[in-house]
Amino acid sequence: MGLFLTIDDAAKIFQRIQMSKIDVSEELRGWKYSDYPVRPPSNSKISVGDLSLEFCQTGRLFFLRYVKKAKEAEKPLLARGRYIHSIFNTAITTAKRIILGGTVKDSSSFLISFLDEGTKIKPALIKEFGLLSKWEGEEKLERIFNKIWSIAASAYSHQLDETVTRSPYLSLDGIVSNVVPMVTEFPLDGTYLGFQKSIRVDALLLPFLIVELKTREVKQEHKIGLTAYAMVFESIFNIPVDYALILNLKLDKEAEDIKVYEELVPITDSLRTMMIERRDSALRIIDENVDPGKPDYCSRECPYYEVCSKL
Ligand code: SF4
Repeated sequence: MGLFLTIDDAAKIFQRIQMSKIDVSEELRGWKYSDYPVRPPSNSKISVGDLSLEFCQTGRLFFLRYVKKAKEAEKPLLARGRYIHSIFNTAITTAKRIILGGTVKDSSSFLISFLDEGTKIKPALIKEFGLLSKWEGEEKLERIFNKIWSIAASAYSHQLDETVTRSPYLSLDGIVSNVVPMVTEFPLDGTYLGFQKSIRVDALLLPFLIVELKTREVKQEHKIGLTAYAMVFESIFNIPVDYALILNLKLDKEAEDIKVYEELVPITDSLRTMMIERRDSALRIIDENVDPGKPDYCSRECPYYEVCSKL
């Protein structure tokens, strides 16, 4: 399994989920949004992305962002993450577009088209991340792009042959659903649970697995964010979400080597409770206009590091 999951990967993942059932308390399901403790304590709304940022243990980040409306600074670690997410999204939508174009029906013609598209897309994408390019060097950004693009090329070309061989009479849409069964930036309305109306999950793997791509070391806060997405999904669709997937992409310093680790995260009562506590604490900071102060340690990668060092 890798970064660009296909329908064969989805089948294996859902089998694993089926074999590892967990018990979840009914009162902690997202659809219980009218009742304590899932019901948000106020009408304020926050973003799930902020809830899953690992930098600020006291929650001052919420005070700065939502009360003070302080300006955040661009930081290399976060910018690199956004760059990698852009490549990931673009590779997925490009693969779909090529297959739906209808002229490509086997791995070799797909590979030619996909790699050709990559060479056109790469310069524009790197240009969009001008500051990151200045910090890390254009060559490194090119290397990251080339590596991720080639992982996509290999996964999708292989699955295209598999799919077409299994059934030569599939529609183009049917082929896409098997080869590229991920919807990127899947939108969800988080308002029932105290989140913003337009929140976006990194990807939804068909039929309904929430997938988050992480480019930093996975921390508890990331799993709390994942839990927020799972509970929002439950609040909208009334479908139990007991597992969600983290794809953790790790790069070495010079981006010579990329590894992808997957972690199927059980959305347990304990994670649900932590999510509710963290959400409620953030909403309290915003509603009561209280500065909770700094934690013992502030990372220079926090987008408010410069703001806080002056306070
Ligand atoms: S610099 Fe420190 S106190 Fe300020 S938002 Fe970041 S982690 Fe929180």
